[in-house]
Amino acid sequence: MRSRSDARQTIGERAYDVCIIGGGATGTGCALDAQLRGFSTVLLDAGDFCSHTSAASTKLVHGGARYLQEAIADLDYGQYRMVRKALHERIHMLRSAPFLAHPLELLVPCFSWWELVYFTVGMKAYDWIAGSASLFPSKMLTKAESLRRMPSLRSEKLAGTVSFADGQFDDVRFGITLAQTFAQQGGELINYAKAVAFGKDSHGLLALLEVEDQLTHERFEIRAKAFVNCTGPFADHIRLMANPALPQRLRISKGVHLLLPLEALQSDSALLVPKTEDGRVIFAIPWLGRLLVGTTDDEAQLTDDMVVTPAEIKYLLKYVNQYLNVNLTPQDVLSAFAGLRPLVKSKDAVSTKELIRDHEVEVDDVSGLVSVLGGKWTTYRAMAEDGINHAQKALAGRQAACRTLDFLLTGAQGYSPDYWKQLARNFSLSSETAQHLAEKFGTDAIKVLKLAERDPQLLQPLVENGTPIRAEVVYALREEMAQTINDVLLRRIGVQFHSWTEAAQSAPIVGELLAREFCWDDAQTRESITAYQASIQHLIFSAGIET
Ligand SMILES: Cc1cc2nc3c(=O)[nH]c(=O)nc-3n(C[C@H](O)[C@H](O)[C@H](O)COP(=O)(O)OP(=O)(O)OC[C@H]3O[C@@H](n4cnc5c(N)ncnc54)[C@H](O)[C@@H]3O)c2cc1C
Repeated sequence: MRSRSDARQTIGERAYDVCIIGGGATGTGCALDAQLRGFSTVLLDAGDFCSHTSAASTKLVHGGARYLQEAIADLDYGQYRMVRKALHERIHMLRSAPFLAHPLELLVPCFSWWELVYFTVGMKAYDWIAGSASLFPSKMLTKAESLRRMPSLRSEKLAGTVSFADGQFDDVRFGITLAQTFAQQGGELINYAKAVAFGKDSHGLLALLEVEDQLTHERFEIRAKAFVNCTGPFADHIRLMANPALPQRLRISKGVHLLLPLEALQSDSALLVPKTEDGRVIFAIPWLGRLLVGTTDDEAQLTDDMVVTPAEIKYLLKYVNQYLNVNLTPQDVLSAFAGLRPLVKSKDAVSTKELIRDHEVEVDDVSGLVSVLGGKWTTYRAMAEDGINHAQKALAGRQAACRTLDFLLTGAQGYSPDYWKQLARNFSLSSETAQHLAEKFGTDAIKVLKLAERDPQLLQPLVENGTPIRAEVVYALREEMAQTINDVLLRRIGVQFHSWTEAAQSAPIVGELLAREFCWDDAQTRESITAYQASIQHLIFSAGIET
């Protein structure tokens, strides 16, 4: 990516075919799709790229076993179609960035022979729908085999488990990688740039977007022929900005996840609790050295503070302790995060749990705005294809076919699961650091390590005995448009997901590297370190965790 200031300069001067508003899964996917079709494309986000829902998912590339269960129970063709589409997208997502996404075994614990048969039949149907896109076949496991695969499972009353396959990924790095790939294809993008108003032509169609730079508070304009609204939970706001007569379409639901010590699971497989007392599904998944547990599903407002509360922690820990042989308390929570699901309203659904996670492309006849609403991370590519198929109708006479199916994202070229060994050997890295770099950047890890050839200090870890190294910070600032400590520690390197404490400890060194790169004075550096550490304290305090 170019520097933010260079991007800002160009964007204000050029006119584009397509302008994508919102840089989460949907927006980065749409931007890459449009650029690959040969349309000059610009992408903007009001915050950092992937700073909302797309960083707060359960990190599963899945059709959704629960949705299939509901499709069968309610004879709901809409749910079935959504599961089938997601299962077919799953394999393409895994192929396009194998360093960020891979197959995962999930175990469904069963407490009677009837349950074992029921879930085996259900998961066989899941395999059958996936067809040639199946990852590996599901099977019924005996109690002994289940406990061999997951020794921490509570064995009392356990009849066995059903094993099935889905995919798992690093959501926020996937989004950053999509953005980076888009930039490499000649796309222009900018973060911290908020869409605040539209300008229209003499026919009332959108012709320009007024944007407020969130770092300098200056305003500038983007001119484009087509505007695509990919703002996830904020989509109604942009729709009404284009045409105040439109009805609201979204319902918002909050979902939280906890990160716990991986020792609680003692397994490479994940646990799926198929039905909680209030009809939810809970996952406990090994993810990047932690046990990721989620999620909740509660109606929410856009203005809610995105913190995890003691009640939410209590709810999730109750199920972890019930199904695993552990007794975890809130003090065991190492990190946590919350996100808002953008769900498209249906007339009948009473609660947000009942809303279908499918997407919808809306074209407003009055303003021409294309809105890509709802959906899932897993179907981001299909959503983008659908969205750009509609947007290109505004580009008179310029129809082009979608090219994203199995398009390799940057870092995927030449990648193999053993790639980290090459990095460890050639750059004398510990296995942990080499694996971490390979998992975050794929073969682009070389570009990160090249920075350290000129400045060997950058090979040092961020915190003593930690895995991430300082070169990643400099790479994030120079090549990935990171602007703040939060951008670096949460979305580029992932330290904040791993541990709140480790993230707070890493802040001073990240602040110094930011100051060096952006020529900050001492006061500005101190202020940003203190602000970041205070934001972590706020998360810990809101979660009711004693320090
Ligand atoms: C708890 C939870 C768990 C989930 N788990 C999974 C899962 O395991 N697998 C799966 O496939 N899906 C999952 N999902 C769904 C998936 O995460 C979302 O569907 C997807 O991330 C939505 O992406 P988006 O780009 O539409 O929205 P967002 O990621 O929210 O992006 C919207 C962007 O628009 C920007 N924006 C807003 N207003 C403006 C403006 N005025 N100007 C410019 N930019 C603006 C925001 O800053 C934001 O970055 C989960 C969702 C949740 C909440």
